[in-house]
Amino acid sequence: MKLNSQYLFRQYAYVNGEWIVGSSGRQEAVYDPADDTILGHITLLDPAQIGSAVTAADDAFRQWRAKRADQRAEILQNWYQQLHDHRSDLAQLLVREQGKPLSEAEGEVDYAASFIRWFAEEARRTNGENMPSHIPGALLGTAKEPVGVAALITPWNFPLAMITRKAAAALAAGCTVLVKPANETPFSALALAELAERAGFPAGVFNVITGDPAETSAQLCAEPRIKALSFTGSTRVGKLLLKQCASTVKRVSLELGGNAPFIIAPDVSPEEAADAVIAAKFQTSGQDCLAANRILVHESIYNAFLETFAGRVRDLVVGKGSNPRTDVGPLIHRAAVDKANAIVEDAVRLGARLIHGDQSLAPGANYFMPTLLSDITPEMKVWREENFAPVAGVSAYRTDEEAIAQANDTEYGLAAYLWTHDQKRIWRYIRELEYGMVAVNSVKMTGPCVPFGGIKHSGLGREGGKTGIDEYLNTKYFCLGNVGQPS
Ligand code: NAD
Repeated sequence: MKLNSQYLFRQYAYVNGEWIVGSSGRQEAVYDPADDTILGHITLLDPAQIGSAVTAADDAFRQWRAKRADQRAEILQNWYQQLHDHRSDLAQLLVREQGKPLSEAEGEVDYAASFIRWFAEEARRTNGENMPSHIPGALLGTAKEPVGVAALITPWNFPLAMITRKAAAALAAGCTVLVKPANETPFSALALAELAERAGFPAGVFNVITGDPAETSAQLCAEPRIKALSFTGSTRVGKLLLKQCASTVKRVSLELGGNAPFIIAPDVSPEEAADAVIAAKFQTSGQDCLAANRILVHESIYNAFLETFAGRVRDLVVGKGSNPRTDVGPLIHRAAVDKANAIVEDAVRLGARLIHGDQSLAPGANYFMPTLLSDITPEMKVWREENFAPVAGVSAYRTDEEAIAQANDTEYGLAAYLWTHDQKRIWRYIRELEYGMVAVNSVKMTGPCVPFGGIKHSGLGREGGKTGIDEYLNTKYFCLGNVGQPS
């Protein structure tokens, strides 16, 4: 792969400040989802090498936690600058290994960098507190301490940002980290390691390990020297890792799947609603945990919305991410296309209308043409499962009660969207939607300053915002007896 700064393209793992290869020589190819050409290879580390990586991170923890917060903040700030200076190459890497359009890739680089800057600032604010004492003559307080080595396991849909949202918080808190990226998109993670080294992180503080996903993750979960596990990925794997962490009672944060409803109230124009749903559904080709999965439209505007929305869907340009005209890039691999096909077939079999989405027009094996299904119902997979594809399922509702019940009719609880200009309705929905995040009249909702996360089967804990760093901090309570009464 050709980059302006070729040193960003690494095909090794990064452990204790060194680029290493797996001792057994095993490696795995990484493909460009646009055309299935091989981009490069990752090395698969053996269990003993992963054990050594944990030792390195554990040793480095002692020095890293001992640094002053402003010293850690300065290195994080350098890292932010490195991302900023290499924006174009990082975006290129994302386009090639993930498939997303260039403008979205540039957006992801900025988004990823924003977490580093935010947590560089938050590093100085991990304050404890004092409380009025119930014990005569005592002084009571708390101190915040880094939990220790953190393992960070990340998905392929946002290969940079899902790492920095975790790593910047952990590093700011004083933890050291082992990042295990998705094998589909390892090169962004390895570029981050190169930039971390250039930013001045001491050896062992930021490590990227590549290996067999299930084996490596199981080892990290069972490892007693790892004190926190933060995972972003599917609910299925998240539940498995939660179980695997039980034996070592780790701090666990999980950012899992979503099944976002997008509710359109009767007071909204079909044009306004259609533009918003296009933005909420098709970014990253629908492979986004925040993607609108079920579009619930008031019956009074249902047909008008469908007609307008179908026109917008038809206009979407499908192609390689490197083409500046592309709106919808490829899916990550063929299995994702098969899953999307199965979801559409299931919906049609159970009575949905396929309004748009002729798959014979797909420009390659990993592409899925934007698809519009109307009249979807709760028995269908398109309603129950996160489709993670450019498939929009639409359904009509009659009353607010019905819309809220339908929106909440899922095991997931990550994000929900509401489009309305009716104030009373806004407050009611914010109260009654069972989701960790609710966006009203806005598609954009994430950013470094907000607590991102879900409820129900969508996860545990929050990333970003004031609370994001707490996932990596222990609260130590202290009681100083006999300090005397204030005079
Ligand atoms: P995934 O669960 O298949 O993989 C996520 C990570 O887990 C990868 O690094 C993978 O290698 C690793 N892994 C660990 N143990 C594994 C095992 N036993 N089997 C397979 N992989 C294992 O998820 P994905 O397909 O990479 O990502 C898509 C999912 O991530 C979607 O469900 C999406 O909603 C979710 N996601 C959630 C958020 C959020 O913030 N809530 C953000 C992005 C993606």
